[in-house]
Amino acid sequence: MSKPKLFIPGPVDVAPETYAAMAGPAIGHRGKDFEELYSSIQPGIKKVVGTTRPVFFSTSSAWGIMEGCIRNLVKKKVLNLCCGAFSDKWYGVAQSCGKEAEKIQVEWGQPIDPETVREKLATGGFDTVTLVHNETSTGVLNPLKEISDIVQSFDDVILVVDTVSSLSAMPINFDGLAIDVLLAGVQKAIALPPGLAVFVTSDAALERAAGMDDRGYYFDFCEFAKNDAKDNTPSTPSIPHLYALRERVGVMLEEGLENRFERHLANNAMVHEWGAKHNFELLPPEGFRSRSLSCFITPDNLDQAGWIKSVITEHGFAINGGYGKIKGKTFRISNMGNETQETMQDLFDALDLELPKFLR
Ligand SMILES: *Cc1c(COP(=O)(O)O)cnc(C)c1O
Repeated sequence: MSKPKLFIPGPVDVAPETYAAMAGPAIGHRGKDFEELYSSIQPGIKKVVGTTRPVFFSTSSAWGIMEGCIRNLVKKKVLNLCCGAFSDKWYGVAQSCGKEAEKIQVEWGQPIDPETVREKLATGGFDTVTLVHNETSTGVLNPLKEISDIVQSFDDVILVVDTVSSLSAMPINFDGLAIDVLLAGVQKAIALPPGLAVFVTSDAALERAAGMDDRGYYFDFCEFAKNDAKDNTPSTPSIPHLYALRERVGVMLEEGLENRFERHLANNAMVHEWGAKHNFELLPPEGFRSRSLSCFITPDNLDQAGWIKSVITEHGFAINGGYGKIKGKTFRISNMGNETQETMQDLFDALDLELPKFLR
């Protein structure tokens, strides 16, 4: 049986053209062919990130670089801004790396309040802050500009931002914001199969890393920078993923980034309208809602698990039944990647057909 089309907030559905691109020829990664592949992706991916700095490619999931940020950058103490499963986990990862860590914890579904970041940093001792821009578990979009302005006002504090489920779904201007490391996995809005992460570092981040004794090898930011100068990666990368990234970035530029952002916004508005029609309430408050996915509160009279299963078996579409401690209490619909008004409408039709059978 064919697998359902994914409307879960990652991994998302992958275009046949992307799979075809992955079947490119085997090439050695220390030769001219690889250098050409590497450098051919740079101009496009830099536009997506909003930077003139090199974009590094890591053969890992996003967590490789998220842990890498801790190991490369946290000398004194990290402040983790926690508002959901991914941002909360970063605090645990910092501790498991043996670092001193403190957190600001807000209720799941709420955004980070920038003023609390100012107050916490003012207590002193922090050299790094971690922020998840788009908290995929709750559908919260955090106020990136406000938080980055505040972190910038403190000397020698580095800001690390996870844009895993927002990069390429909405404008992000690395060079225009005071961000030191921006990272993303490719299996969310970029719509590649999982297995690659992209990231950008500031000069301050690279300087900090260079002075860290125990930053390891695989995720050593200095190694990435050194190899980038030769259009290369520290170790053998997943070359099929780089073929796929070249293909997808080409498609993004052809569509036009502004058009791509507009399409995500319009598809996201469609999800909100569909939810409003059924009186489904969004978990995050107005003004802090993701544009790439929607997290709804499960009504008491809905057999959510039965409904989701039925939409998969009867229509071949998969949505998600909640993540972490809000599993079963929320459901999430992604509009990331290659979706159109038509594919979103097909999903709503399927959800609507099955819904009455599972309302009590
Ligand atoms: C999916 C996701 C991650 C984790 O990505 P992996 O590829 O599983 O490492 C981290 N942060 C956010 C916001 C995510 O959506």
